[in-house]
Amino acid sequence: MTEQTIIHRPLPRPSEHSARFWSATAEGRFLIQTCSACGQATFYPKVTCPSCGSVDLVDTEASGRGTVFTYTIARRPTHKAFAEAGPYVIAIVELAEGPHVTTNIVDCDPDEVTIGMPVEVTYADTIEGIALPLFHPATTTATTVL
Ligand SMILES: [Zn+2]
Repeated sequence: MTEQTIIHRPLPRPSEHSARFWSATAEGRFLIQTCSACGQATFYPKVTCPSCGSVDLVDTEASGRGTVFTYTIARRPTHKAFAEAGPYVIAIVELAEGPHVTTNIVDCDPDEVTIGMPVEVTYADTIEGIALPLFHPATTTATTVL
């Protein structure tokens, strides 16, 4: 179980196409889409498959696990909501299912983040009811089965 935090920051505005994603995050689920025509997994919510152009995209629940693909440390606040935040990590996480997600890495020292670091999703509640998917270092590592 992960502790949730109330934060005040610029928030997404769910659209016709992203409303299902944001409803799912409020329930602690991370939805991606999988193309029924070519099997490509994609994120953020789209109308057509970026691989083949099919409109037959199906919501799929992602594992919530991934690795840090790349990141930067913001040492100066980019918005007044972050004035007291101190240095924080803006990252692109590669989900285990393949798609990339722009997010923050939380619950660790920013200087300890590395490319390839295993991470897991956590959800930060906000005053407007949006649950932001953020990532923290994975609490367990994969076990090698001999
Ligand atoms: Zn496709």
